[in-house]
Amino acid sequence: MPDARNPEWQVIRTSHASALIDSQAAALADLRPTPWVVMAPERTLCWNGQEYRFGPGLEGDGADPAEIVAAARSIATAGAGNEWWDGIAPVRLHPDAADVASSPSLASLRGKAIDCRMCDLCGPATRTVSGEGNPEARIIFVGEQPGDQEDLQGRPFVGPAGQLFDRALKEAGGNRAQAWITNAVKHFKFVPRGNRRIHQKPDAAEITACSPWLATERKVLAPKVTVMLGVTGASAVLGRQVTVSRERSRPIPLADGSIGLVTVHPSYLLRLPDEESKTREYTKFVTDLRMAISALAG
Ligand code: SF4
Repeated sequence: MPDARNPEWQVIRTSHASALIDSQAAALADLRPTPWVVMAPERTLCWNGQEYRFGPGLEGDGADPAEIVAAARSIATAGAGNEWWDGIAPVRLHPDAADVASSPSLASLRGKAIDCRMCDLCGPATRTVSGEGNPEARIIFVGEQPGDQEDLQGRPFVGPAGQLFDRALKEAGGNRAQAWITNAVKHFKFVPRGNRRIHQKPDAAEITACSPWLATERKVLAPKVTVMLGVTGASAVLGRQVTVSRERSRPIPLADGSIGLVTVHPSYLLRLPDEESKTREYTKFVTDLRMAISALAG
């Protein structure tokens, strides 16, 4: 609720709420002393000085600024169960594992993850990089962690490895628009070297700390097929140590009755030293992806 010190609301109206919230997370955080609300056709996010809340989107265009501020206040101060919130609980600033597990939707998970502090990786990274894709997807791809580009753009698999993945997926007959793409760990781990940021593998404690996000993501999405890209993604999904070369390229029954498939991480293909091995391994990767897509039909 706005208080006497901060009587005015910052109101941001957009037709792309999710993209704006994610790309502007740092800037929005700077607005914290002042209550603010982001209103969009598909959903609303507000910060009332104490807590975040997500709510239904705001219908209609062309409202004058005074009406928008009035609407922002009514959304932000409405009680749970009101039409705006439709029973949606406040989003805690720093969620714990129980908050994560109780998330009813992928959008709710994404909102909570913005402020995750469950391990130290959130400190140096720019932002949380949550999974993205088709919320009705029957196939999920689980990588390791966001890289430099993903950290800057706030989206998974958009750097060089992501571009290679897109190409291979297309060649295998898949389509990113029909999939859900995520990582085992949602913050970029790196060491600075000059003006570069060098990728570091997340350790077991960091993978475990981040596991509630992936587990809930998979529970909510309930995919038929889970493709594990590399050892970190595979260990996070299977909950044990994995040797990719031993377990790749074959269906693995998962505890929830769905199908798992282990393959390499596309960054492995980029690191190969010569063209011959690059071509050979890329072909095997496409074959694995094709196998995963075929499993959807089974
Ligand atoms: S890496 Fe995962 S557990 Fe650690 S702060 Fe980021 S989202 Fe939270």
